[in-house]
Amino acid sequence: MNAAAGELDRKIEALLADPAWLDHPLREALAALWERYLAQLHRLDRIASLSDRFQALVRDRDLTRTEQFEKRLRQVEKMTRISDGYQEMMRELNLQLQQASTHDLLTGLPNRRFLAERLKQEAERSRRSGEPLCVALADVDRFKHVNDSWGHEVGDIALRAVAQAMDRALREGDLCGRWGGEEFLVILPATRLDDAMPAAERILDAVRDVRVEGIPAEHRITISIGVAQWSAQERPEATLARADVALFEAKGNGRDRVMALT
Ligand code: GH3
Ligand code: MG
Ligand code: MG
Repeated sequence: MNAAAGELDRKIEALLADPAWLDHPLREALAALWERYLAQLHRLDRIASLSDRFQALVRDRDLTRTEQFEKRLRQVEKMTRISDGYQEMMRELNLQLQQASTHDLLTGLPNRRFLAERLKQEAERSRRSGEPLCVALADVDRFKHVNDSWGHEVGDIALRAVAQAMDRALREGDLCGRWGGEEFLVILPATRLDDAMPAAERILDAVRDVRVEGIPAEHRITISIGVAQWSAQERPEATLARADVALFEAKGNGRDRVMALT
């Protein structure tokens, strides 16, 4: 609609709405004319849309059957491509969601929820098979000092480096994740306490080798570890509690060491 016509429409609508003209002799005639004008407009719109549809029909009728078939095929192919794209996107999104809900953002290691679930499964498996099972709780030593001295960002980089070192030092079948803050949990399936201790020593060694840009070389990053073996009568939480007591002892005995509680 051009601007002048739009202006006229607005003017007439305003006149009809204005109570000042309610009793004007021409108002009734104008209202009737306006109604008729709107009805005609509506009919014109319908005719235009019918004609559009008719033209499309005629276009399609002129196509040969093969052409019609190919046209529909192209439409279906396009829809399939779009649908494939969506499915791929959903798959990708699902994977990302799953990764985000089971892994820790900073270190990329399994998170507490994942570890707790796995520990329950491993205890169940050990109950059935009779195989031993150990857990090791590790805590970075004097980590507050790292943050305080070289900043929280360097602290984050250090945590990531510790996580990688621990993960690399694991034996096949062991699982390490972030239990919270600067604490990590290692699950050692099919492992007796006697075998868990050297495994923990190897993890201590690996962390001693960690170097972080921004932290002077003379400052060694170390961790302390508490190990406990699961016993068939207990819930995994009880094993974790004993590993925590062992960890506390490792801290009390000078840190950078592993202690065990049976
Ligand atoms: P201890 O040897 O007794 O474990 O001493 P600590 O200083 O490591 O223990 P404390 O519990 O006093 O301090 C832990 C510190 O770890 C405090 C907290 O700010 C820091 N921390 C926990 N999570 C993160 C993190 O994601 N990034 C950084 N940069 N620091 C963290
Ligand atoms: Mg701690
Ligand atoms: Mg600590």
